[in-house]
Amino acid sequence: MKIQEADAKSLLLAQGLPVPSWKVARTPADVEAAAKSFLDAGAGKVVIKAQVLVGGRGKAGGVKLASSAREAAEVGAKILGMDIKGITVRKVLVAAAAEIVKEYYLGAIIDRGSRRIVLMASAEGGVEIEEVARQNPDAIHRVSADPRLGLLTYQARSLGLAIGLRDPLLNPFVAIAQGLYATMKANDADLVEVNPLAIVAETGPDGAASQRLVCLDAKITIDDSGLARHRDLEALRDLDEEDPTDAEARKLGINFIHLDGTIGCMVNGAGLAMTTMDLVKHFGGEPANFLDVGGGARHETVRGAMELIVADPKVKAILVNIFGGITRGDEVARGLIEAHAEQSREVPMVVRIVGTNAAEAAKLLEEARFETATSLDEAAEKAVAMAKGASR
Ligand code: GDP
Ligand code: MN
Repeated sequence: MKIQEADAKSLLLAQGLPVPSWKVARTPADVEAAAKSFLDAGAGKVVIKAQVLVGGRGKAGGVKLASSAREAAEVGAKILGMDIKGITVRKVLVAAAAEIVKEYYLGAIIDRGSRRIVLMASAEGGVEIEEVARQNPDAIHRVSADPRLGLLTYQARSLGLAIGLRDPLLNPFVAIAQGLYATMKANDADLVEVNPLAIVAETGPDGAASQRLVCLDAKITIDDSGLARHRDLEALRDLDEEDPTDAEARKLGINFIHLDGTIGCMVNGAGLAMTTMDLVKHFGGEPANFLDVGGGARHETVRGAMELIVADPKVKAILVNIFGGITRGDEVARGLIEAHAEQSREVPMVVRIVGTNAAEAAKLLEEARFETATSLDEAAEKAVAMAKGASR
């Protein structure tokens, strides 16, 4: 699960990391009020940042500075409603603009190869790290944390030294790197990224100039499988940006992934779903989705899943492939019949149900005049032919 920058910053703050304070605004008037509060508190400028779950907001024009509350409202009006990579901006983050001296990259990821949390850092911060990885891979430095000992001080220090940091910023860097590690562990995150981690120039109340490391951007993704252990994090899910299909699939407790093809697939079991998609391709078709209705699916689940498939206008034919074990064939058949009765449009469908209660299923499907198949090859071939016939 991806979370917004503002929420990611809250999780960093909870681990004691240095994050400048911010406000979230949904209207230009709220942007103006937020900007005013920061300017009144002594900020020279404010920064207004689109809150969307994609990277490269800066390049897309979603990060802008303003010198007055009025200007902030104008900038806010421009960014709110803006389209960034297909997503409409509905809220912005407002903060006192930092005076950036230098930008670094710091990220923590899970390296599945070594099964460890790896910290990555680069002196080429601010730009997309994928770009750095392509153009100048040597500019990215890594250390991997021991699962029992965590990220040790000497490891974090060596990472800081590698990107050119020296006293007095080295110890703060160590604390930040260890804070990223702690954020990973505390939230079952699979990515915690601060880009830029910036050296900013500050002037104290006595007029003395100083430099400090602060987290100016934050990106966190939470391991979906870890969410059950963090009920509070569920509240950070941004429904504004969630694909309604994903939300519906989550409610139904099924695994549904949209693809580009024309053949909707309903299968039980992830492995069987993959095999079914392979066969669709083998016979010259393209699957419209991956769908695993899970073991023991009841008729309500089947009906809901069918609605998701039919809702995709690209779908020209449907292939149902159920291997009854815990799942009962007659439950699936009943769900299919219910779904068909309510369906908003007619889509040709072929059903193959074998295993538990296959005979009962066959009887129900025959009565309802459904097209059936006995082997998976036959079913896939029929579905491909149906999709081609329908598109002509
Ligand atoms: P991203 O493009 O989505 O990664 O958004 P960022 O939050 O990283 O912002 C993009 C760029 O805007 C940063 O790399 C900075 O150069 C700039 N930026 C962000 N916040 C500030 C700020 O407070 N002050 C200044 N001067 N620049 C900022
Ligand atoms: Mn960034």
